[in-house]
Amino acid sequence: MTSALLPRDALLARLREDRVWDLAVVGGGATGLGVALDAAARGFSVVLLESHDFAEGTSSRATKLAHGGVRYLAQGDIGLVREALAERGAMLANAPHVAQRLPFVMPGYHWWERGFYGIGLKAYDALAGRRGLGGTEWLGSDRVRTLLPGVQPRGLWGGVKYWDGQFDDARLALLLARTASARGALCVNHCAVTGLLRDGDQVRGLTARCGESGEAFTVRARCVVNAAGVWVDAVRDMDRAPGAPQRPAMVAPSQGVHLVVDRRFLPGTHALLVPKTADGRVLFAVPWLGKTILGTTDTPRGDLAREPAPFAAEVAFILRESARYLSTAPQRSDVRSVWVGLRPLVKPSGEEADNTKKLSREHTVLVGRSGLVTVTGGKWTTYRAMAEDVLDHCMARGLLERRAGGVTERLPLLGAAPGRPLTEPPGEHLYGSEAPLLRSLPGADRWLWRDTESGQGGLSEAMVRFAARHEMARGVADVLARRSRLLFLDAAEAARQAAPVAAILEEELGRPVPTGDFIALAAQYQRLP
Ligand SMILES: Cc1cc2nc3c(=O)[nH]c(=O)nc-3n(C[C@H](O)[C@H](O)[C@H](O)COP(=O)(O)OP(=O)(O)OC[C@H]3O[C@@H](n4cnc5c(N)ncnc54)[C@H](O)[C@@H]3O)c2cc1C
Repeated sequence: MTSALLPRDALLARLREDRVWDLAVVGGGATGLGVALDAAARGFSVVLLESHDFAEGTSSRATKLAHGGVRYLAQGDIGLVREALAERGAMLANAPHVAQRLPFVMPGYHWWERGFYGIGLKAYDALAGRRGLGGTEWLGSDRVRTLLPGVQPRGLWGGVKYWDGQFDDARLALLLARTASARGALCVNHCAVTGLLRDGDQVRGLTARCGESGEAFTVRARCVVNAAGVWVDAVRDMDRAPGAPQRPAMVAPSQGVHLVVDRRFLPGTHALLVPKTADGRVLFAVPWLGKTILGTTDTPRGDLAREPAPFAAEVAFILRESARYLSTAPQRSDVRSVWVGLRPLVKPSGEEADNTKKLSREHTVLVGRSGLVTVTGGKWTTYRAMAEDVLDHCMARGLLERRAGGVTERLPLLGAAPGRPLTEPPGEHLYGSEAPLLRSLPGADRWLWRDTESGQGGLSEAMVRFAARHEMARGVADVLARRSRLLFLDAAEAARQAAPVAAILEEELGRPVPTGDFIALAAQYQRLP
């Protein structure tokens, strides 16, 4: 498979075609893109529309762990953990340039912790079976200090080492979009779904509007899948007959905050997991792209902000707990970026409860009376299993003809090739086998930004050109938040790069590229409440 050039004019021309698609997907996060790729790989014709950028919603704001969920094991949810561990294996095999195994250490400060958690993690290994990434080991306190050089040594008893995975969420989403496109799907970002088309009482397509030109589109499809994340209820509302009462909301959003600090707070290649903080939550300190991610929180919130701000208590919690487990306590002034994601937690729906099939506690697929298929919940790691479940529902309802599944289990994504560890600063290795294509572009050796702590990696002029030519980037945020992850790693540096990136994009796109909105966004990512 080669990297297709994806000029926007050509994408929009296909969107104007007078035809009936098999499947139209609303939302270009992990869930929608997973559905699009699975359907395209089975030979269905697919169109996917994303109102903003691919992964701009929750799917670029995860902790970036490809994991079975150690805490679900503690809750005895064996089926869920086994499914997620199998999916972890598939993700790492299909996208080794952006998803890799990562060793974790749980430090123990009480005599019983090492044994207690170690036994649970041995069970975790057993559930992974042949998809296991490495065996769990009990560690003495010296070994914990060697593997986690930044750990708080006072009172340390020992620890447990186990294996999970980590990934670059936004780049993985882009690879799903591009791989689906290479298989014939039409994936368009910055194009919002504005309404649903009906034939009698059945949904038969949608209307959409290009976020750049304002052009309106009518897209006919046999089956419409609503994968709009925490925004699914707004799309379900488009399915409401005139005068009918509003349905109860399906999603109760909960926000999670991450703080990013320099690598010096947790040098080395191991992540730190605290399974139970003072108030019973899980805390991660994860080396990622040359920095350390600290998080996260779980705070219900009533609104559905596109860029939610952290609450003061959430920031205080992460800094306070980090100070307990790291030998150098990060201060507010050490935070390079703060970002917030909304989890789409599902509440059972009264009206359609009969029609609701919860295959796991984690995600829900709901087929409305009109045939609108809504999917939400779950996690990044299980996107592929969720996609199979969605297509099963579409086929069971007769919206799509039956075609065998399992086709994405071993389907390498574009550029799939083993890469350098994701704990290292971002660089050409993230492009896998597409690195030569990247290097063939002008500016391959012109670095706009270099990782100062390591002196390696960074953002090159060619990466910006690659983003515009091959990755459907349309603005500064598309490049600096999701193709490069600089906004998430160092928001002040990202703001400094806005003008040079805009200048390159202007050459590539042949139109003015504003920077104002991005500079305001980068200011938000630097601001602690
Ligand atoms: C703090 C946090 C940490 C997490 N950590 C992990 C982790 O470590 N590992 C893991 O496996 N999972 C993790 N998750 C879960 C995971 O991130 C989510 O389950 C997943 O990203 C949800 O993807 P989605 O596609 O359903 O939603 P989204 O990514 O939000 O995608 C929905 C998309 O629909 C678009 N949309 C909305 N309305 C319209 C419309 N009218 N027209 C077109 N498009 C529309 C939105 O713009 C959005 O891009 C985490 C979640 C959070 C919040």
